Amino acid sequence: MVLFEKIPLYSSGPVCSAMTAQILDGKSLSERIVDELRQRVDALCATGKRVPTLAVILVGTDPASSIYVRNKRRACERANVRSLSHDLPSSTTQVELLALIDQLNADAGVDGILVQMPLPAQIDPETVIERINPDKDVDGFHPYNIGRLAVRMPTLRSCTPMGVMTLLKTVHADMRGLNALVVGASNHVGRPMGLELLMEGCTVTTANSQTRNLPVLALQADIVVVAVGRPNLVKGEWIKEGATVADVGINRLPDGRICGDVEFAVASERAAWITPVPGGVGPMTVASLLQNTLQAYEIHSA
Ligand code: NAP
Repeated sequence: MVLFEKIPLYSSGPVCSAMTAQILDGKSLSERIVDELRQRVDALCATGKRVPTLAVILVGTDPASSIYVRNKRRACERANVRSLSHDLPSSTTQVELLALIDQLNADAGVDGILVQMPLPAQIDPETVIERINPDKDVDGFHPYNIGRLAVRMPTLRSCTPMGVMTLLKTVHADMRGLNALVVGASNHVGRPMGLELLMEGCTVTTANSQTRNLPVLALQADIVVVAVGRPNLVKGEWIKEGATVADVGINRLPDGRICGDVEFAVASERAAWITPVPGGVGPMTVASLLQNTLQAYEIHSA
């Protein structure tokens, strides 16, 4: 299987010596991971064991959330993981959602519980995340699981940073000593991303909205991971020659196209490796979710 594809970004004359980045193809890698998971699930079922099961809760009708949930359910089908759909109306109260989580926590046939974010305004996301049993928290958002990552004892890891690490490891077998910059410091992406890179021995800088001199920090980074949610926030000229760039951002442009947070065309002339958007980190997040579901299943079957 071809995981990386050389992309000609420009057809320059012979004087141009700019680097042409190779694509970190999350779509292909995620398909391979899901295929491997399916083989594991099929082997379990062949011995009469129960099927790993993921409960997916969607509250409301946010179009982006509906697409993400559909993709996750499809990935479950491909891996032969059973997915239980709980589609709730936008008017759902926090009490009602917590009651459903309690019910799923107590259900021995459910391995993982995913609550699609964002939630309607009347529901506090942190209260919901904390209600999920940490050993069913397949998103890896629970403070217990983030804490385990912080002390280098990861169990269920946050899916997006985990997916980024799986991709990065295909081109950086040993990350020790590399300078890594994470742009964005959210609880679900930026912060656990920094912890993942630190665990691999990188020297990590995590930038937030108050950070000064972002271009200078970026130019020193061997690995740049961007998770902000602003198109073209990171300029191509900030990327160090030969760096690896993972773009987590998903932004919809006025013309309907999807783009990341990195100025892709220019960054690709400087980076050695770069993720596309779409087709980079997004599919790896879904693959990580399924890996976590299998891990949760193993915890419950032990
Ligand atoms: P978020 O919760 O809104 O957090 C954004 C972070 O960016 C915050 O920490 C914020 O800093 C920081 N920030 C804002 N402006 C900045 C600037 N100028 N320089 C540096 N940092 C800045 O967003 P999120 O949930 O982490 O998601 C980020 C993006 O990733 C979104 O586009 C989202 O759709 C996408 N995403 C993609 C996947 C995937 O699978 N590909 C998964 C999750 C999210 P403060 O902390 O100071 O406010």
